[in-house]
Amino acid sequence: MTQKFDVVVIGAGPGGYVAAIKAAQLGLTTACIEKYTDKEGKLALGGTCLNVGCIPSKALLDSSWKFHEAQDGFAIHGISHAGVSMDVPAMVGRKANIVKNLTSGVATLFKANGVTSIQGHGKLLAGKKVEVTKPDGSVEVIEAENVILAPGSRPIDIPPAPVDQKVIVDSTGALEFQSVPKRLGVIGAGVIGLELGSVWSRLGAEVTVLEALDTFLMAADTAVSKEALKTLTKQGLDIKLGARVTGSKVNGEEVVVTYTDANGEQNITFDKLIVAVGRRPVTTDLLAADCGVTLDERGFVHVDDHCATTVPGVYAIGDVVRGMMLAHKASEEGIMVVERIKGHKAQMNYDLIPSVIYTHPEIAWVGKTEQTLKAEGVEVNVGTFPFAASGRAMAANDTGGFVKVIADAKTDRVLGVHVIGPSAAELVQQGAIGMEFGTSAEDLGMMVFSHPTLSEALHEAALAVNGGAIHIANRKKR
Ligand code: FAD
Ligand code: AMP
Repeated sequence: MTQKFDVVVIGAGPGGYVAAIKAAQLGLTTACIEKYTDKEGKLALGGTCLNVGCIPSKALLDSSWKFHEAQDGFAIHGISHAGVSMDVPAMVGRKANIVKNLTSGVATLFKANGVTSIQGHGKLLAGKKVEVTKPDGSVEVIEAENVILAPGSRPIDIPPAPVDQKVIVDSTGALEFQSVPKRLGVIGAGVIGLELGSVWSRLGAEVTVLEALDTFLMAADTAVSKEALKTLTKQGLDIKLGARVTGSKVNGEEVVVTYTDANGEQNITFDKLIVAVGRRPVTTDLLAADCGVTLDERGFVHVDDHCATTVPGVYAIGDVVRGMMLAHKASEEGIMVVERIKGHKAQMNYDLIPSVIYTHPEIAWVGKTEQTLKAEGVEVNVGTFPFAASGRAMAANDTGGFVKVIADAKTDRVLGVHVIGPSAAELVQQGAIGMEFGTSAEDLGMMVFSHPTLSEALHEAALAVNGGAIHIANRKKR
């Protein structure tokens, strides 16, 4: 007999698995189809995020930062030690254990919530039917009242640097190095390139980042991107802007990369090369020709503001649709869709999705940049507070960077919070909470912040918007 569910989700990444759990919680019969298997050939839920994305990259960033601190950051605290060494396979093994814990945790959550987990490749057919090709090649068709497509994304390949996962790797390969490459090249100075470049640079690799654009971190506030370029360069990342990779040649254990910059054609040799030039939506064999769902010109599934596709009852969420490729965006879209399936009036505030780059210092922002607001003709007041003036940051010997709060000059409403510095991601989230409730800079300034905390830098930056900061000289006078 054909199985029938209220909701069938294709893909168990942070978009799909969260949607499936929420649907089951709301009393809908739910199945989630996933095909990804780990190195042991076992079904692994959690998608890119848990298996080869957010979590493993943060595990390596944390390990490599501890190594860096042990090498260079302890003496100032009066701590001396005989010397430190890094066991790279142990570091990579720790990461693998974290991944396993989390992916098996999703399986447990599925069980606890009554989500039916189906292993296989899902394909949407006409009439909200879903064809599942199981690992043994058998095919089953299931029926659904509602289908949520959440197949995610995969790394973009570029012809000048074909990935072999040996010398030229993508982000997945870069999480698996078993030793520190002496000379490491990274193509692309985006979030993933900078995070992975930082991991291996902290462990001793000479890292060169080749970025085609002349502008560094274009989406960030200019003050933040300038500070980030200065700091990351000081840390040893050789970031070459305006350097477009045009070719590569693998010679045994090394690769010669050709790029063009303002001075013409250049060659540079690396022991490993990470290609981190962005990600593209996964729609291979996802949609039957007559299923009715359409793609946009860039290959993303076409959806409206509520993630509804062109077919009633079929939705798409996460990296496979327009907007930022972020786990938290995928998850919230999943929740919104399921709430709407249930008939609730859910919607998502796409203007307040925080962005984070987990370098050190961290870089994070929410809302608009000063340059965007100026281009839109919005008059703003800006308050900035440097961590160099924060007692808590001094105590931690982590004083690089600043908090910048941007408010509408007429209404004082906060329009952007931009942070480069310790715990930037956490501080920006506080800004996001305030902004969701329409906070003014004055509101933030009137709140009581614990002392001593890094959060006080957000408080002071908000006060500085109207010339009222206490612990720095105010540029703007009241
Ligand atoms: P995915 O996580 O890609 O999951 C989709 C799942 O669908 C996959 O498991 C896939 O196997 C499965 N699938 C695809 N097609 C089918 C099919 N036809 N049938 C069955 N199953 C199918 N984001 C952040 O927010 N913070 C970070 O710190 C961060 N760091 C990152 C670091 C790296 C190195 C990378 C690569 C990404 C990072 N991201 C980060 C991005 C984040 O991982 C993605 O935005 C997020 O995983 C997207 O979620 P998703 O559910 O849309 O898709
Ligand atoms: P993101 O999409 O944020 O992950 O960033 C990817 C970066 O890679 C972008 O800034 C692109 O400009 C850059 N990029 C893409 N192709 C090339 C190339 N051939 N050489 C150098 N940089 C590139």
